[in-house]
Amino acid sequence: MPPSHPSSSGVTELLRDLIRAASPNPPGDERAAARVILGFLERIPDIEIEDAGVDPLRPMIVARLRCAAPGPTLLLNGHMDTVPDPFGAKVAGGRMFGRGASDMKSGLAGLVVAFGRIAELRGELAGTVELHAVPDEEPGGHLGTEALLRAGRIAGDYAVVAEPTGLSVFRAQKGNVFADVTVRGRSAHGSMPWHGVNAASLAARLLVDLEDRLGPLLAERSHPLVGPRSLNVGTITAGTATNVVPDRCVLGVDRRVLPGESPRAALEELAAFIGDRGTVEATHLGAPFETPEDHPLVVAAQAAVAAVLGGPRPCGGLVGSSDARFYADGAGIPTILLGPGAMDQAHVPDESVPLEEAEASVPVFVELARRLLVAG
Ligand SMILES: [Zn+2]
Repeated sequence: MPPSHPSSSGVTELLRDLIRAASPNPPGDERAAARVILGFLERIPDIEIEDAGVDPLRPMIVARLRCAAPGPTLLLNGHMDTVPDPFGAKVAGGRMFGRGASDMKSGLAGLVVAFGRIAELRGELAGTVELHAVPDEEPGGHLGTEALLRAGRIAGDYAVVAEPTGLSVFRAQKGNVFADVTVRGRSAHGSMPWHGVNAASLAARLLVDLEDRLGPLLAERSHPLVGPRSLNVGTITAGTATNVVPDRCVLGVDRRVLPGESPRAALEELAAFIGDRGTVEATHLGAPFETPEDHPLVVAAQAAVAAVLGGPRPCGGLVGSSDARFYADGAGIPTILLGPGAMDQAHVPDESVPLEEAEASVPVFVELARRLLVAG
């Protein structure tokens, strides 16, 4: 295939190669994508590269470059996995189509190319840049960034996660509480339901109450960057056969948490609302975060975006979740999300990214590094 849209930075070519190196998760195997990144990184002189992966099929690349003078550490994170159903890299109308184009192989390609540029500039910079090309973000980061955090390997002064933000600076992210709510009844033969208590019927009434009574209370509180608190029942599990009164029904509840709210407190609030109608057990707690508007990381990122794109843009926030929480909440490092592509392109059947935006991400990341990597 002839190279379409050759770019000066190499980001288009790297993005094309990354999309062709399919890395759908599940099942989860980022070896091909990791080889593409390593092929690029190995051409950069005098950097340290290691595989911090915790599973042979799930490589995790940590690449480090030290600048001429001592100074702060900037962490750059991008995930290599995508949602399933890979499809190939194709360019049309100035966009690159393919699984991962927006989420987030364009951001990852931008970071990798920018990492090479920063290496060329290191003589005039102070500090360290660490690139984390991680597996396993899509199901929650367990074998990826979370493993890096648990190993005590996340340390630094600033973190940038290149999830698709349309190159706006996202300085806040919602958290989430996933909980199983178990409602108990009493089993009986389906021909004599009056001998039993139908747990599915009880759970259905509880679901309606959660939506009608707790939902509006939650929606009263909202955050300017990530919107209102929310609640959704994502799964209902009950029954073994049509002719049996179910004695147990489990609702999978998904409660989204605002920056400043504690997931633990949100869980307790849910349990208090449910009272003796069911038992509540958390299956996942993800912390929210917010980095202040006047933090040097946000200020530098806003200035870098304005310089490259020709004007300032308002900050945004991520309504969903990402690996950024492991840096912000997990390691206590000021964190932003910043990358090409749009979240509404993530996971869609014909995912794409504007190539102009993928290209522009490189000077944005380089400019951000220039502003942050100064001797303190
Ligand atoms: Zn992503």
